[in-house]
Amino acid sequence: MPDTPHRFATRCVHAGQEPEPVTGAVSAPIFQTSTYVLEAPGQDKGYEYARLHNPTREAAEANIADLENGGHGIAFSSGLASLDCLAKTVAAGGHVVSESNVYGGTYKLFAELLPRAGIQCTVVDCQDLAAVRRAMLPETKLLHIETPTNPMLRVADVAALAAVAHENGAILCVDNTFASPVNQNPLDLGADVVMHSATKYLNGHSDVLAGVLVANDDALAEELRVMRKSTGPVPGPMDCWLVLRGAKTLHVRMQRHNENGQRVAEFLETAAGVRAVHYPGLPSHPQHELAARQMRGFSGMVSVRLDGDAAARLVQRLRLFKLATSLGGVESMISVPVVMTHDAIPEELRLRDGITDDLVRLSVGIEDARDLIADLRQALGA
Ligand SMILES: *Cc1c(COP(=O)(O)O)cnc(C)c1O
Repeated sequence: MPDTPHRFATRCVHAGQEPEPVTGAVSAPIFQTSTYVLEAPGQDKGYEYARLHNPTREAAEANIADLENGGHGIAFSSGLASLDCLAKTVAAGGHVVSESNVYGGTYKLFAELLPRAGIQCTVVDCQDLAAVRRAMLPETKLLHIETPTNPMLRVADVAALAAVAHENGAILCVDNTFASPVNQNPLDLGADVVMHSATKYLNGHSDVLAGVLVANDDALAEELRVMRKSTGPVPGPMDCWLVLRGAKTLHVRMQRHNENGQRVAEFLETAAGVRAVHYPGLPSHPQHELAARQMRGFSGMVSVRLDGDAAARLVQRLRLFKLATSLGGVESMISVPVVMTHDAIPEELRLRDGITDDLVRLSVGIEDARDLIADLRQALGA
């Protein structure tokens, strides 16, 4: 629960942000320290060692937990480190069900690395509730989804999937990286854990690697903190400060990402050489109604299928959109998922999900949409 009744924009700026008590510094100081002086053995001021506690990290965690309407925020050194820690709460002998069309690194962690630790994983298309129900086993402890998915922008029904997870005694984790808390709050829809690669929209400036989990359940949050403390994937104080600085403008940036994403998607739908545009904000998107029900905006992620070898040409000719493996920054980027982010996914699954070399993924930034559309138009060779 948020600790104030303020509206979202106000919470972006203020949540977790008390002036520093000694000097009154308005910006949370970067506590670049590995340890803290004790008053006596076993007698500390709440801070003992940096793997356990850091005030800059706590400020960022409090801010993001508030934006996700969650009681606990737990920050990690990367998005994947956060999922690894969550997965470790599923002990050997347990089972995970995961959306198939997830970030390539998530697929590798769940489908290839967890089995080595005795945790089995089944991947399914989570748009298909009956398929998810069939995949759930008595040992299933975790259902993990992305919505919208990376890179196909498929939308899954969070409330319905939370019900399926709970009927089976499992928890639901939603990777909310693509939507951001501006556009979607999975905990409000029944999810148990929200995960973010804070590397993306939360930070928003392409200058940090970080992850975060948000949960309401006290026991689960405590288990995750113990797991993090005992395995060590903590973000440094400077990185936490950069996430916090980014989060303060999240609402303003996302408003522009949403507007630009919509405009670029609408332009591409009419452009020559474009075979399909995947964007949940388009009425042509197969789950547009569901997206409109559970999201407040549709973000800046658009994927596009092009004719023949047009994808390779587009990537070469674009000037503003940078060819890079990331997303969610103020600058527009383009990627070719089949070789850049989803190469870990077996070919059969990639083909089934439509991740082929004619598919490009755009992260539409906060530049002037007219310049972005002009760049796409020239690169498409119209
Ligand atoms: C980038 C990304 C991740 C992995 O996060 P890192 O911070 O790179 O470890 C997980 N999920 C999604 C949707 C992502 O885009």
